[in-house]
Amino acid sequence: MKVVSVVGNRPQFVKAAPLSRALRARVDEVLVHSGQHYDPELADLFFDELGVPRPDHALEVGHGTPVTQLAVMLQRLEPLLAAERPDMVLVYGDTTTTLAGALAAAKLGVPLGHVEAGLRSFDRSMPEEQNRVVADHLSSLLLCPTDTAVENLAREGVVAGVHQVGDVMLDASRMFAPAAAARPGPAALGLEPGRYLLVTVHRAAATDTEAALDALVEVLRAIDEPAVFPVHPRTRHRLEATGRWDALAGHPTLRLSPPVGYLDFTALLMSARAVVTDSGGVQKEAYFHGVPCVTLRDTTEWVETVEGGFNHLTGMDPARVRAALADLAMPAERPPYYGDGRAAERIAAAVAAAA
Ligand code: UDP
Repeated sequence: MKVVSVVGNRPQFVKAAPLSRALRARVDEVLVHSGQHYDPELADLFFDELGVPRPDHALEVGHGTPVTQLAVMLQRLEPLLAAERPDMVLVYGDTTTTLAGALAAAKLGVPLGHVEAGLRSFDRSMPEEQNRVVADHLSSLLLCPTDTAVENLAREGVVAGVHQVGDVMLDASRMFAPAAAARPGPAALGLEPGRYLLVTVHRAAATDTEAALDALVEVLRAIDEPAVFPVHPRTRHRLEATGRWDALAGHPTLRLSPPVGYLDFTALLMSARAVVTDSGGVQKEAYFHGVPCVTLRDTTEWVETVEGGFNHLTGMDPARVRAALADLAMPAERPPYYGDGRAAERIAAAVAAAA
């Protein structure tokens, strides 16, 4: 059986690390890299560090708006899929790359599998929500990380081909925790374990408009304790292009850095007092490591973490962020919302059985 996996973004490289390994034990995997993330610190570093197999095909979509990138990916995927003739296309998560892989497979009549199926923030203005909904409704194999995801699909009438397999990011987290623990982490930055915040921000909603950027700068400047912020290239570009970078760089307790690799990021996360983020994956990783999370959004698709009292939704509101940071008490027990760290094996088995 031949499976074409389509990846192209930082979180998809993290998911591909355990998944490609498990898939290759059962099927022939052809890995396609769309090139949506092409900065070395968002792409190459992850392949090297996490042992993700070298892509068999690179679409090299490069810079562009999401619509242009989608169009270019579709154009390049058509002949590739026609030549490879896979039994299944596998897409991960909720990015433009996910949408392109899903649409190309559907149009060419190739069965589609979606890893991280069924997640919903119920905010259709989010590009990620649009991508998820389309990918789910085109898939014949829906690989859900949580019970909530299975319920979301059932409400939309999607019940065939649905499997609750657990979350493959937990697999990655367990697989790389020992290597991450061996990294210098906060010590390399002169920060004390348990006495700093780890910040990430990259969503369109936080960076695309002047008003959103003002709100972001205001929130980050309201933080009055040591914090480290590995800045996503998109966020950095927007802050620089609109003349706001210096206002952040000059903030006395905030340390800005380029994005770091997965192991260094995990090392920083494990010892943080809390995480402040708008990332989907980072909300979960905070939970995996028992670190409190403050999410700079009004909705999340990882609702269990909020309902359980591990994650606080504050929007981009300085007062709510400060209030959340002042009260980070966590429940003693962390329920196994995301499974047992063996999602990749279940996904590979479900893919092989779907042939
Ligand atoms: N990450 C990383 N270095 C960083 C920031 C994040 O390795 O400087 C990792 C993080 O551990 C997680 C993934 O990137 O596994 C999350 O990606 P991102 O926030 O870009 O995407 P999202 O999860 O929001 O789709």
